[in-house]
Amino acid sequence: MRKPLLAFLVSVCALTAQPRYDLLLKGGHVIDPKNSISRALDVAIAGGKIAQVAPSIPASEARRVADVKGLYITPGLIDIHVHVYAGTGIRAITGDSSVYPDGFSFRTGVTTMVDAGSAGWRNFPDFRQRVIDRARTRVLALLNISGGGMDVDGEDDPADLDPEAAARMARQHPDVIVGFKTAHYNGPGWLSVERVVKAGSLANMPVMVDFGTVNDIRNLNTLLMDKLRPGDIYTHMYSGHRDELIENQQINPAMIAGRKRGIIFDVGHGGGSFYWFVAVPAYRQKFYPDVISTDLHTGSMNAGMKDMIQVMAKILNMGSPLEDVVRWSTWDAAKVIKRTDLGHLDVGAEADVTVIRMDKGRFGLVDSAGAKKMGDRMLVAEMTLRKGDVVWDLNGRASQDWTVFPYKKRPRASH
Ligand SMILES: [Zn+2]
Repeated sequence: MRKPLLAFLVSVCALTAQPRYDLLLKGGHVIDPKNSISRALDVAIAGGKIAQVAPSIPASEARRVADVKGLYITPGLIDIHVHVYAGTGIRAITGDSSVYPDGFSFRTGVTTMVDAGSAGWRNFPDFRQRVIDRARTRVLALLNISGGGMDVDGEDDPADLDPEAAARMARQHPDVIVGFKTAHYNGPGWLSVERVVKAGSLANMPVMVDFGTVNDIRNLNTLLMDKLRPGDIYTHMYSGHRDELIENQQINPAMIAGRKRGIIFDVGHGGGSFYWFVAVPAYRQKFYPDVISTDLHTGSMNAGMKDMIQVMAKILNMGSPLEDVVRWSTWDAAKVIKRTDLGHLDVGAEADVTVIRMDKGRFGLVDSAGAKKMGDRMLVAEMTLRKGDVVWDLNGRASQDWTVFPYKKRPRASH
């Protein structure tokens, strides 16, 4: 008597219990570099957070199940060099070339973007109010040491390079500002670099340097050995514009010495900062990126750069394992900007997740000059989750078939 009763109670409970999870990504291969995971696992999400990462989580425990067999599940991608201060009308370096974050993030697997100096310490509140606070993408910022950011007047007016004002603004927006940036500096000396590092020291934050022009005084060795601090970021590492390669295509010894000191090297592909003739010899000498980023703007995205996932594919095709490519685009990027709440799939973390497909075939990968290198693998963003919500789903993997979908509005039957 007891046994059937127990079985009955269990089945009633099973029928009435709500599924524990909102969404289950089932059948994928998880790459979570922070936790040294690269194997077949399911990922369950509840309340906008990672609820479980384990083998064979039953489909019955989730309200929605996405079949991601044959795909990679990674933390949401972090692009630490973009330009998203859109709609200003400011004719900066290449015109008003920022884009709005949500139009270009999720469809390429990116959940966090770090704007690299589009706004400075003077116009940051406008950037925050008009773009950052209205975006669904998590937008963080490296504040330009020049008050007007990437302004029509340039970024090298000494009176406008103000470390105290920059640090003050950073302290007022600690949830969003993660560091500082100097770029496009055409002055003769070190003023912009010294001022941006001063701001970084005042606020205890890293700085990113687009080194501008080199000359007798401004050279890579002094920058990487004397001026920057460990943890500071050298972007456009494969540009070749600043003697990154010296004669016989050798990596500048200053780059190697800088790396030993803890300088971070960032891809920052952009419209004029990634060339195969620099990247391939650097790769042969094992000078790999520390972090991967796009330098997204209308100029780069409509030329060779395209988007984050394609920049990752370029690095992959130069010979790095997918695990490294993902690490440089997630956990290592989070560490560089000191946001270790991001870039991993820890249980309890906000569920920013990317599902990646790796296609095999023949693909043309184009650099900033328009030169092509053929590759045999291409990466595609299949799904993107932001705070557990499906914000991009290329093949409707989380969707129900239309024949069973409970449409809210059905057209009235006519006779
Ligand atoms: Zn840039």
